[in-house]
Amino acid sequence: MTDAHYGLPESIALVDDLHLGRPRIVGTYVILGDDPVIIDPGPTSALPNLEAGLKQIGLSFSDLHGIALSHIHLDHAGATGSLVRYFPHLKVYVHHRGAPHMIAPDKLLRSATRIYGGQMDYLWGEFLPVPADNIVTLGGGEALRVGGRTLRVFDAPGHASHHLIYLDESTGAAFVGDTTGLRMPGYRYVRPATPPPDIDLEAWRCTLDMLLSLKPRMLLLTHFGPAHDPEQHIAHMWENTQKWAETVRISLERSEDESAAAARLVALAEAELEAMDEATRQQYEQAGAVEISWHGLARYWRKKMESS
Ligand SMILES: [Zn+2]
Repeated sequence: MTDAHYGLPESIALVDDLHLGRPRIVGTYVILGDDPVIIDPGPTSALPNLEAGLKQIGLSFSDLHGIALSHIHLDHAGATGSLVRYFPHLKVYVHHRGAPHMIAPDKLLRSATRIYGGQMDYLWGEFLPVPADNIVTLGGGEALRVGGRTLRVFDAPGHASHHLIYLDESTGAAFVGDTTGLRMPGYRYVRPATPPPDIDLEAWRCTLDMLLSLKPRMLLLTHFGPAHDPEQHIAHMWENTQKWAETVRISLERSEDESAAAARLVALAEAELEAMDEATRQQYEQAGAVEISWHGLARYWRKKMESS
């Protein structure tokens, strides 16, 4: 499924990876032109859908020059190693803090297994290592020439310590990954995305200020699609993230047991989705499960409490 109706610039396409067969959960952006690049291939479990989506816009994996990763979480980067195995010409652009885990993913997979348990294979499929020779490490400050335009690269910690934002200078589109939360097309509501293990709210606020200072024309979210109102989107996203963080902090301060504490956040999250139809509520939940975000925020606060 492609993007005609998302209001994207002509030189950028959005493929719906139809994660677990559902629309608008995980998206892959395609920078068209000579030497096309994809941003975040999504998980291996959805790779046939990415292939079909590329085909609809006249591309195959062998046409691609590379894969630019916003960050290495499995729903964004899972298929990278599988793609490189079959298409060894692909360059992989990734944050230098994420690169070691793409080359040797054991620790990343152990950490993800703690979150997803027996669902790992069903949700994400295989996660193959990427040969070091394919990797180009970035840290922010670089300018990449891809698809006949310049992508400026920015360090963007907060959601993950290894998160990057790519700004396409020719269109003003910012590929933000999960830096600005989750939002379904046609809805105003932005759901926070705060999974473990390295949520850092102070760093995140700095990242958002940096992003605002770039004055992007649109934010291209992985989950799902473009936000054409960057300032309002970011303000609303941050307001909700703070609300969620505060809810978790209060639970920890009261030493509530974990299930009661998580239930408190689930109740808030459900109230936020109340006015939506069932299918949209499910899309928000599949793209960013509340309980996982609870664990990410709890870890953030515990680390902070231990270090103070
Ligand atoms: Zn993520």
